[in-house]
Amino acid sequence: MIIVLKSKTTKEEIAKLVDSIKKLGLKPVKFEGEERVVVHVLGDVKSDVEAHIKSMSCVEKTVRIVKPYKLASKEHHAQTTIVKVGDVSIGNGDFVVIAGPCSAESESQLMQSAEMMKKLGIKIMRASVFKPRTSPYDFQGLGIEGLKLLKKVRDKTGLFMETEVMDVRDVAIASEYVDVLRVGARNMQNYDLLKELGKSNKPVILKRGISAKISEFLMAAEYILYHGNKNVILCERGIRTFETAYRNTLDVGGVAVLKSQTHLPVIVDPSHAAGNRELIPALSKAAVAVGADGLIVEAHPDPEKALSDGEQSLYPEQLADLIKGLKPVCLAVGKKL
Ligand code: PEP
Ligand code: MN
Repeated sequence: MIIVLKSKTTKEEIAKLVDSIKKLGLKPVKFEGEERVVVHVLGDVKSDVEAHIKSMSCVEKTVRIVKPYKLASKEHHAQTTIVKVGDVSIGNGDFVVIAGPCSAESESQLMQSAEMMKKLGIKIMRASVFKPRTSPYDFQGLGIEGLKLLKKVRDKTGLFMETEVMDVRDVAIASEYVDVLRVGARNMQNYDLLKELGKSNKPVILKRGISAKISEFLMAAEYILYHGNKNVILCERGIRTFETAYRNTLDVGGVAVLKSQTHLPVIVDPSHAAGNRELIPALSKAAVAVGADGLIVEAHPDPEKALSDGEQSLYPEQLADLIKGLKPVCLAVGKKL
């Protein structure tokens, strides 16, 4: 529920209201606008409690948020959220490309990848060191040694680094080495991990689960927001459908729904949706056109030798062509790339 206060409400009256909400076992969150203050009440607000609050002299009106997700909804937060990664803003209306290899494999592979990014003006590089592989026999990632390499490349190149965390125990250590943490599709409903990320101050890219409904996706984001971290970026990466012509079905409609329902930035991962590098330009253009705030795309200096997802990783020249091809689409919809 949202409480809209009268414009002349004093600080003392606000403090009293906040205090009485806490005493009822609910969580008040205060927002100070230019003209007036609104207080959001999180928790199950019973109708007698609402009536009591409504009767207070400083209260102009109360508004019920009917959606199960509150903090992620536009009703709660009309202004769009802009997540800052260093000097890069995600969600400000422009289009941000994050790119890099599926996995960190070696220092030289990371340095070559970083050179690719630098040449194209890409400022955030992805590379996973903790790998959620379907088979236990596949490459599982470099782990903490990989984090150290990411930091080394970060320090040498000035690029910001993005990596996946799979476990509560990864959050603190990864935060020491990288700039952005990612929750993979398989962990979208790992609630302990989401809570831990809520306590972190690092930007989080939250990927949509393979079979998650949009409401479940937003509830997962709600966990991170509720536990205190406002820097959440949603990522549509394709969902599992009956279709087998590509790896997953990129839910372009889902991106449009997200953009209408939430103030959080939404990016698209065309690589894990396509599973095939040839489809990436088309899916990426669709992402721009539907209103996404950016892309996270896999690219590798030598995809044939990649230890994971080589078949969907762009060659260096393909990444350059992708950026070139996206520019006119961005221009057409008024986004800077
Ligand atoms: C990845 O980004 O490398 C990855 C494993 O993606 P997803 O979690 O979307 O499958
Ligand atoms: Mn991958």
